Amino acid sequence: MHILVTGGAGFLGSHLCERLLSEGHTVTAVDNLITGSLRNIEALRSSERFTFIHHDVSNYIAFDGPLDAVLHFASPASPIDYLNYPIQTLKVGALGTHNSLGLAKARGARFFLASTSEIYGDPLVHPQEESYWGNVDPIGPRGVYDEAKRFAEALTMAYHRTHGLDTRIIRIFNTYGPRMRLDDGRVVPNFIGQALRGEPLTIYGDGKQTRSFCYVDDEIEGIHRLLMSSENLPVNIGNPHEMSILEFASIINDLTGNTAGTVIQEGKRIEGDPQTRQPDISRARQLLGWEPKIDIREGLTRTIEYFRSISA
Ligand code: NAD
Ligand code: UDP
Repeated sequence: MHILVTGGAGFLGSHLCERLLSEGHTVTAVDNLITGSLRNIEALRSSERFTFIHHDVSNYIAFDGPLDAVLHFASPASPIDYLNYPIQTLKVGALGTHNSLGLAKARGARFFLASTSEIYGDPLVHPQEESYWGNVDPIGPRGVYDEAKRFAEALTMAYHRTHGLDTRIIRIFNTYGPRMRLDDGRVVPNFIGQALRGEPLTIYGDGKQTRSFCYVDDEIEGIHRLLMSSENLPVNIGNPHEMSILEFASIINDLTGNTAGTVIQEGKRIEGDPQTRQPDISRARQLLGWEPKIDIREGLTRTIEYFRSISA
């Protein structure tokens, strides 16, 4: 297949391009590098089946030639990033999704949307199953990301229903691993960076809020299975192993041997920060035969090794 990946120079996009190349596909990555990096795809650029195009997909995507699938991963994803780029985030979720859908329609290609657990906002249903409509503040600071992704899902379903486009929607839950930016502000790189420098880990709020962390290799396997399936309705892909941020901090301090502990930073918590988050992955299990395989300590050990290697 010839597959075009928007956001291909980002954390998930680069792992996805790598996986697709290893399956024998031809891959074109389109990225404006707003939060991604050419370093992420350096190793892929030697492949004759890989092409990189520097372009903002919120503008018309000019691409000639046959395409079998368009995978739309372009979007700032870390809260710090989308708070820094609120308008770009809304544009890439709306206009970028529209352009990517238009390209898929013009080429008769399959379309795959990278959506998010943030669709559920600060959820009132726990764990979150795909039938839950969510609890999102449209005008809060996180609204720029949440509503952009909700609009992207609505537009994807409209293209599916109106034009018969073959579409997929994945709702990705917190994913971590090598190639996250050390300064992207998400809790995984923040904590690992602090631990490797021997500093206390910064807990935003009381640390009782929960997340469920999925290692990148598991997430990519789920993405690949959904892409190759025929499921048009949203599917959650994430690791249901839920923990509080305080518990998560103590695992990082344990794995890195950091003795500086933690520090509470009440004021740093972003308004609307979800209190709980845990995917219900029944649909992924049933439809795709998928579930995560890599446990948190193993995944974090690999990720810590990566951050050690880039800061050495
Ligand atoms: P990332 O910031 O590393 O990657 C996003 C990529 O998109 C970057 O390379 C960036 O430069 C590119 N991009 C942004 N706007 C663009 C535009 N207008 N035109 C072209 N390229 C643009 O983030 P990530 O963690 O790899 O996330 C990738 C996708 O997965 C995003 O759509 C995100 O919403 C979704 N997602 C990720 C997670 C996670 O835990 N990592 C969770 C839920 C959803
Ligand atoms: N968080 C924290 N300390 C940090 C960074 C994040 O306590 O240094 C918290 C943040 O407030 C949130 C959780 O960790 O409750 C996960 O944050 P992240 O930015 O990784 O992504 P989110 O799941 O909120 O999109």
